[in-house]
Amino acid sequence: MTSSANVPAARPSATPERITTDVLLVGAGIMSATLGAMLKTLEPDWSITLLERLDRPARESSDPWNNAGTGHSALCELNYTPQMPDGSVDVSKAITVNEQFQLSRQFWSHSIENGLLKDPASFINPVPHVSFVEGRQNIDYLRKRYDTLAGNPLFAGIEFIDDNTEFARRLPLMAEGRPADQDVAISWTDHGTDVDFGALTTQYIDHLSDEGADVLYNHHVKNLERNSDGSWTAKVKDKDVGRTVTVHARFVFVGAGGGAITLLQKAGIPEIRGFAGFPVSGEFIRCTDEAVAEKHDAKVYGMAPVGAPPMSVPHLDTRVIDGRRSLLFGPYAGWTPKFLKEGSFTDLPFSIRAHNLAPMAAVGVTSWGLIKYLVLELAKTRKAKVNNLREFAPLAQDDDWELITAGQRVQVVRKKGHGGALEFGTTVVSAADGSIAGLLGASPGASTAVSAMLDVLERCFPSRIGTWESKLKDLVPSYGVDLSDNPSLLEDLRLYTNRTLGLD
Ligand SMILES: Cc1cc2nc3c(=O)[nH]c(=O)nc-3n(C[C@H](O)[C@H](O)[C@H](O)COP(=O)(O)OP(=O)(O)OC[C@H]3O[C@@H](n4cnc5c(N)ncnc54)[C@H](O)[C@@H]3O)c2cc1C
Repeated sequence: MTSSANVPAARPSATPERITTDVLLVGAGIMSATLGAMLKTLEPDWSITLLERLDRPARESSDPWNNAGTGHSALCELNYTPQMPDGSVDVSKAITVNEQFQLSRQFWSHSIENGLLKDPASFINPVPHVSFVEGRQNIDYLRKRYDTLAGNPLFAGIEFIDDNTEFARRLPLMAEGRPADQDVAISWTDHGTDVDFGALTTQYIDHLSDEGADVLYNHHVKNLERNSDGSWTAKVKDKDVGRTVTVHARFVFVGAGGGAITLLQKAGIPEIRGFAGFPVSGEFIRCTDEAVAEKHDAKVYGMAPVGAPPMSVPHLDTRVIDGRRSLLFGPYAGWTPKFLKEGSFTDLPFSIRAHNLAPMAAVGVTSWGLIKYLVLELAKTRKAKVNNLREFAPLAQDDDWELITAGQRVQVVRKKGHGGALEFGTTVVSAADGSIAGLLGASPGASTAVSAMLDVLERCFPSRIGTWESKLKDLVPSYGVDLSDNPSLLEDLRLYTNRTLGLD
């Protein structure tokens, strides 16, 4: 790639009408921020332009109040450890998610040591991760899950607790008002975290800007066209002055969150054929009363109702945002055809194409669990929502909790055989020539941004990845290694990341 001049301009009037750049990042969320930070380290001479349609970074899903801020490492999320028909517990997904989060911890640690990120407490804080179940059958499942995970070094230190006195000592808010003889159990680990992905995004993008990247807000990418030499031209609306800017880029990353599917469709790459998006919006209830928040220091994940999708798992979370502790409970699902919180009602209908009609129709027919869940959630009153919370905190007071709208999830619908399947994970879609890639889907989401962006680098820069290997090992020391098979490396890296991220 050749470097080119992208002179940072005084806003709002002076964005050049034509920009030439090596790397175009679309969207100022955690994914673009992470990829930009990696590329700036790997290839400091490449020019980077980041375009965001809103007026500042992290206003969609990466905003701290638009997601739950769980550093997903499968310590507490029961949907990653399903019970199999023979009664055993499948922990393979949990191991994958945990390994992916270790990569994030390492990259963030390297970023702290090298000045890309500031005070770790501004974006990551230790909060115990807890799974919570009621009833004998569920307690048996939780014990089996604990037995299966406890021997794996990734889950070292996990505890199983079915003693009600100990439950009350660790989770006073959840014990108050609960019958003393109720059958409850928890698994507990101190290694959990709460992450402010908005602060993380903003700090990485500030760093990019300091290092000479062109970061332009209020710039909406309307179209992407492939040029005859394999590069891309983006047509961009400069919302401040109402004119069109043309950006010519050798490589494009579509980190547009829910808007990624629309832009990848406009780019017309064959790899997006058969994909569709199904939007699910969300709400949380939040308590900012410090006296209540003081009684709960944990992220406690329960079980999804039978047949309901993974995103319906209820959880009561400690949040640490701007140094203040508060509580979050939810999520409650809602529905709108928008692909972004600040999106358009035409997002869903305009995304339907001949190639994704069959997958969408098939999902409509087969996803009764999701549809039933959405209908029941939409019918819930505010009172019913606080009643759900009382299954966790029996004495919760209505007045302590306010309803807030969370971010928009766009679940991936993928062609499968003659029909389609609804997926709850994240998927990187890239063109065969590696000139463009984008990220679809929502979960485990921001926690696995580092792993997802390493995937983008491997797919899109196969001829550079060998040259980058030693630098990648600096950024992420366990790159290419399964930590569950290397307990001594895992322990070294745990000590290193705990110390660097202030999680001791
Ligand atoms: C309710 C909920 C709870 C969640 N909980 C967790 C959690 O606990 N832990 C976790 O790890 N993850 C969680 N996630 C997932 C996580 O929030 C997302 O995976 C992550 O934030 C996505 O980051 P992103 O950069 O892809 O997208 P976003 O943060 O949405 O950023 C995309 C950006 O692109 C911009 N954009 C879109 N289209 C254009 C365009 N055409 N031109 C220019 N700019 C454009 C948008 O304005 C936006 O700023 C949750 C998500 C939701 C919705």
